[in-house]
Amino acid sequence: MKTGIFFHYQKGERLRDFPEALKGILEKENVFLYDAFYPLKPPSSFDLDPISPEILYQIHSPEMVEQVRRTGNFEGALLSAAGTVRAAEKTWEGEMDNAFVFTGYGDHHAGSDFFGGGCYFNGAAIAIHALRKKFGAKRFAIVDTDAHHGDGTWEILREDPDVLYVCFCENPNREENNKVDIHVPFGITDEIYLEMVRDALFARLKAFQPEVLFWNWGYDGTKGEYGDIGLTADFHVLLAKELRGVADEICRGRFIIVLCGGSRRDLACYLIPRVIAVLAEK
Ligand SMILES: [Zn+2]
Ligand SMILES: [Zn+2]
Repeated sequence: MKTGIFFHYQKGERLRDFPEALKGILEKENVFLYDAFYPLKPPSSFDLDPISPEILYQIHSPEMVEQVRRTGNFEGALLSAAGTVRAAEKTWEGEMDNAFVFTGYGDHHAGSDFFGGGCYFNGAAIAIHALRKKFGAKRFAIVDTDAHHGDGTWEILREDPDVLYVCFCENPNREENNKVDIHVPFGITDEIYLEMVRDALFARLKAFQPEVLFWNWGYDGTKGEYGDIGLTADFHVLLAKELRGVADEICRGRFIIVLCGGSRRDLACYLIPRVIAVLAEK
């Protein structure tokens, strides 16, 4: 497996130790780092090119893009989205098999005309648009296991039957036009959550046959996090293994993990290298 890592870091606590915390992973010959700013790049790394603002207008309204520009986080938001778009393109072209995207500003609360909750641009939606336009890709799936409902992703893709979106969140169960909410109760155990994913997601993925699988991965549902629903840290690593397995089976391993919620620096240091190691396993 060839694994791409798309990284940028500007500010904030949780990613303060990266990319140094990826020591032992970056040295692997099947791992490639794409990086926007990091001054002490390993010699094997590549530049992360920004995307053009024009591509944003395919998904987001010009007024909203202008509002984001005025927040002072525009460049970081652009590079966060750029990581997801480049990861999708390079995975499609076969330059890599799967990818992990660090985001300073996540995806799933960014809709066509609104944003919030630390999300500015919807990287997965933009990447799907780019894959369609550039390569004629047709079918996509997004699984969302951030603790909160992905209102932006749901809104953007509501009318789009060729994107399966399965969101595990606080909402009651519902399903319309290949958009699915699966209710996750507070105080759930790792085992029950994994069982729910197997039941609710895997059969849908196998029937839907996406060409690429995106994972909006937040660890904010971990014990002691701001979205604590009772999960242990190791849950995320187990889930990563299961999702990689299903991506290998149904979409030739094309699997893109996009970092979403989660704030703790210690959990980031513990989890992110382990989740990337799952991608990079032979
Ligand atoms: Zn969240
Ligand atoms: Zn949801």
